[in-house]
Amino acid sequence: MTELSRFLSSRFSGLKAYVPGEQPKDTAYIKLNTNESPYPPAPQVIEAISRGEIEKLRLYGDPECTELRKTLAEYCSVTPEHLMMGNGSDEILSFVFMAYCDKNTGVSYPDISYGFYSVYADLYGISSEEIPLKENFAIDPEDYRNRGRTIVLANPNAPTGLCLTVEDIEKIVASNPDNVVIIDEAYIDFGGQSCIPLVRKYDNLLVVQTYSKSRSLAGARLGYAVGNPALIHDLNRLRFSVNPYNVSRLTMLAGKAAIEAQPYYDNKNAEIILTREYASAKLKELGFLLTDSRANFILAKYPGMGGSALYEGLKARGILVRHFNKPRISDFVRITIGTKEQMDAMILSLEEMLGI
Ligand SMILES: *Cc1c(COP(=O)(O)O)cnc(C)c1O
Repeated sequence: MTELSRFLSSRFSGLKAYVPGEQPKDTAYIKLNTNESPYPPAPQVIEAISRGEIEKLRLYGDPECTELRKTLAEYCSVTPEHLMMGNGSDEILSFVFMAYCDKNTGVSYPDISYGFYSVYADLYGISSEEIPLKENFAIDPEDYRNRGRTIVLANPNAPTGLCLTVEDIEKIVASNPDNVVIIDEAYIDFGGQSCIPLVRKYDNLLVVQTYSKSRSLAGARLGYAVGNPALIHDLNRLRFSVNPYNVSRLTMLAGKAAIEAQPYYDNKNAEIILTREYASAKLKELGFLLTDSRANFILAKYPGMGGSALYEGLKARGILVRHFNKPRISDFVRITIGTKEQMDAMILSLEEMLGI
């Protein structure tokens, strides 16, 4: 990369930007590195993007996403006033950090979690606190009681895949009545229980979900926040101060059609869960150690072999996985659940690498 210019505000001179997983230009790889779905969007989604709708792109979209929010609200058993749509949940999280944290109201999140949390804290000059996961990578809910700070938890957590129960989360939310608790449910459709039903009971709970993982729409960029209408009002104030047309016309249509095609996705997600259990059992047979993932990925290590050796060995065999060169998880790789055929190819490569 080239150097920064001499014009960049000094506020950002030390900013460490998020590093996304590789998006190779050649499609030869079996891509198991960024938790995308191996399945295409539902046929109804593809039909929704008609030629006529493409022609309408000369017009701005609806900044309120009225139709989409109506459909999604019904699915979530809330009202449209409980929902704000974003250009991916990353954008939602950006507004959340902007809205509910600063130098005085700091933020707490686990030491091992989604990498964007620390980037946003850094970007907005927020005082942040990283709370260590337990030895077994579990989040101890006790650590988050009466914290007196904004709290951000991914549930299931990334990249461990471990899940808290709704009861655990409710205790955290109830014990921090003067702070917002954000639950990032990017992977909730792969085996966890959503906290959305709690948003009517607690005015300090905000649930964030995405279409990227369980609805095969990572490239469309669509995410949403579910919370008390006052919280949604706050977030909209910021959204209208940055980019009111943050969700494109085509993405809105795709998002509405995807909710209407929910049975298709329920099927595909069930398939992904089965494949996760299949691949996990195979890896354990080979001697790998795994967390008990409830997400569309597994986190695995092989005793005596580092994570970067696993990553490099698989890459040399045409399979991309994710390695985090970070304390505590550097021995692991995170493997997205693909089709059964892709997992078989991955397992075959591992056997070859281990000389089995
Ligand atoms: C993938 C992911 C997101 C971001 O998803 P978008 O594509 O921006 O909707 C947010 N949180 C977690 C924990 C994720 O893994």
